[in-house]
Amino acid sequence: MIAIERNKIVAALDDANKEWDVIVIGGGATGLGTAVDAASRGYHTLLLEQADFAKGTSSRSTKLVHGGVRYLAQGDIALVREALYERGLLLKNAAHLVKNESFIIPNYEWWGGAFYTIGLTIYDLLAGKLGFGRARHISKKQVISRLATIQQKSLYGGVVYHDGQFDDARLAVNLAQTALEQGATVLNYFKVVNLLKNNNGKITGVTTTDIETGVGYTIKGKTIINATGVFVDEILNMDKPERKPMVRPSQGVHIVLNRSFMPGEDALMIPKTDDGRVLFAVPWHDKLVVGTTDTPIDEHSLEPKALPEEIDFIMRTAAKYLTKAPTRKDVLSVFAGLRPLAAPEDGSSKTKEISRSHKLIVSDSGLITITGGKWTTYRRMGEDTVDKAIEVGGLPPSPNKTKTLQIHGSKTDVDRNDHLYVYGSDEAALLVLGNENPEWKEKLHPRMPYIKAEVIWGVRYEMARKVEDILARRVRALFLDARAAIDMAPAVADLMAAELHKDEAWKKEQVSTFIKMAQTYLLEPYQPTT
Ligand SMILES: Cc1cc2nc3c(=O)[nH]c(=O)nc-3n(C[C@H](O)[C@H](O)[C@H](O)COP(=O)(O)OP(=O)(O)OC[C@H]3O[C@@H](n4cnc5c(N)ncnc54)[C@H](O)[C@@H]3O)c2cc1C
Repeated sequence: MIAIERNKIVAALDDANKEWDVIVIGGGATGLGTAVDAASRGYHTLLLEQADFAKGTSSRSTKLVHGGVRYLAQGDIALVREALYERGLLLKNAAHLVKNESFIIPNYEWWGGAFYTIGLTIYDLLAGKLGFGRARHISKKQVISRLATIQQKSLYGGVVYHDGQFDDARLAVNLAQTALEQGATVLNYFKVVNLLKNNNGKITGVTTTDIETGVGYTIKGKTIINATGVFVDEILNMDKPERKPMVRPSQGVHIVLNRSFMPGEDALMIPKTDDGRVLFAVPWHDKLVVGTTDTPIDEHSLEPKALPEEIDFIMRTAAKYLTKAPTRKDVLSVFAGLRPLAAPEDGSSKTKEISRSHKLIVSDSGLITITGGKWTTYRRMGEDTVDKAIEVGGLPPSPNKTKTLQIHGSKTDVDRNDHLYVYGSDEAALLVLGNENPEWKEKLHPRMPYIKAEVIWGVRYEMARKVEDILARRVRALFLDARAAIDMAPAVADLMAAELHKDEAWKKEQVSTFIKMAQTYLLEPYQPTT
């Protein structure tokens, strides 16, 4: 593999005469999906992300590739069918990262077994040929044998159904690599600061700043796509100030626990919690992710903070269904994400009733904004967006190719017991790095499986620029065990500094910035051991 050299990519922006076919603002699931789609159709495509790929919502999901059982209950059949179709495609196209996961709904009411078996059979039927396996009713004894720590009092039985499970930030990184391979230019740490317009008020490009150097660039494009998640209104305001907000963020929080709280291979799904929401407890890597909440909020940021009442709610609900009640000390990491939901017309605050389908709008200036949806449907969102760009920008028509396009790393026969499986077809090349320097075969932390070669790999081939990029999104240490991630920061900074030719001051700044941020993923302050 050829190392990705940022300097060379940035140099491509210097050509003042160049006019891109498609400029995508935002490097989350939506923007990356759009860039892959546009580049694979042969359009000259540029993607600009102000921070790291998936720094926003796209690294903070429940890690499900799903149709959304909840939306079925709400009667949104079209949305569920579309997402189940996309779930099936993603299992084929990113086989290394997406797996078929069994979920158990425990029934504490006599009618629960029949009710959920019927509902989930409809769910399976909607998936058609791309089904993941039929839902079935299981006895109380079977529920207990599969979920050893489930609350047994008043338990009647359960229903098993299947959905997909994945690593969100890893998929984002692989999508960035896929876009590059398809000929796109993709840059992290490039913020779009303004839009360019001609005398007719039509958008003709963007101005952007390289966050690392502070250098500004003026870039021309035939179509500009606003795929900035909860930030879409900021870009829309650059186009037309003082308009009504398009997005109302809804915060979702997860806590991460040790697997002893729910051992076994199955995930747990509670269809109706005290607040009427769904709660999941999903095995993820070697930990358990429990969440999520749905709290309408007014502010948005790249580092949203879990509210005390959200944490209390998840802990309380987990304690209600699991025999071992988690305490604050047991929480290995807590992370919050913001759903970019379309703002309700009537100003209502009931975010769980707002449709989760995606919204595509074209402003008078020609700015194309895509928002809403979910990770599972990112490909379809990209396809719809590029179809619209062809129309708006008068691009020569070219058919969509992403239904069968293999995403970088895709490989079916991965060994999920080896943590390096997430690299898929890159795993062998990553291991070869150990020949260059045997030290890189060493682990970074006794509690985590990650090896030093992953840091080198992340810098050379996955565009990691900061300690946080490695610890939060190339490996998932921050999300799985924030204390271990804090301990690992100095070693990661040393390895990165050598690769990126950075000095001691850079290392110091990187470590202290990371530790400060990582403390916010913990419920109690932590003193690093190294
Ligand atoms: C708690 C929670 C759980 C979820 N669970 C699931 C799940 O299990 N399965 C599922 O399918 N979906 C799930 N979702 C939904 C899914 O995560 C989101 O729909 C998806 O990640 C949104 O991606 P996005 O690209 O639109 O936004 P983001 O990921 O937020 O990306 C937008 C990007 O734009 C960048 N940006 C903003 N302004 C600028 C600028 N001026 N210049 C350049 N870049 C800019 C930001 O830095 C950001 O990286 C969940 C969402 C939440 C909140």
